[in-house]
Amino acid sequence: MTDLSELNMEIITCRRCPRLVAHREQMARDKRRAYRQEAYWGRPVPSWGDPAARVLLVGLAPGAHGSNRTGRMFTGDGSADFLTPALFRAGFASQPTSIEAADGLRLDDLYVTAVVHCAPPDNKPSPAEVSNCRPYFHAHLAGLPLLRVVIALGQIAFQGVLETLRASGQGLPSPRPHFSHGGETAFPAFTLLASYHPSRQNTQTGRLTPPMFDRVFLRARELLR
Ligand code: SF4
Repeated sequence: MTDLSELNMEIITCRRCPRLVAHREQMARDKRRAYRQEAYWGRPVPSWGDPAARVLLVGLAPGAHGSNRTGRMFTGDGSADFLTPALFRAGFASQPTSIEAADGLRLDDLYVTAVVHCAPPDNKPSPAEVSNCRPYFHAHLAGLPLLRVVIALGQIAFQGVLETLRASGQGLPSPRPHFSHGGETAFPAFTLLASYHPSRQNTQTGRLTPPMFDRVFLRARELLR
């Protein structure tokens, strides 16, 4: 079984994607004006959460001034501001805010990862970069022995989960599942739930609302019963 601590130590030293290495470090040097006084993380962002989790939340990639700054996934940006209250309402988070790595937030029965661990330009990793990072995602699946539910946030995360399963020889249903918010696919090892990503692009346009998001986590709770 994968040791998650060792895996995360390996991830934070990774330089496999030259474009993403350059971008994450450039963002950490340039900084956003509001964070001028802060030391950015500027490295691959490790996964985190409850190692005994039955639910795995899969995001897209660190935000340039969110987790690439704070060093913790879904911490310190608009996506965190939308996601963390939902996790708190569903009983997966100890508090409704995720502001910085030392803010005391704890996750219960939930582990958080992403299909890409480095901040990409325009939040768009290339297919090759997603592929480069796939072994880490696969190792996370192997490192969570109690896993029952995987929640993919957004189309790229959803496809990333499917590709990881396909590449590991587990086979996919035919026809191949399509991404849709609230969609659900059962695999032998876990049930895959799909949700829109809680990016500002989705939450500020009303494409993803708190009740829509809550229903996904409520369904995860039902599947755990
Ligand atoms: S995106 Fe993944 S594979 Fe690429 S450099 Fe970052 S950690 Fe390594």
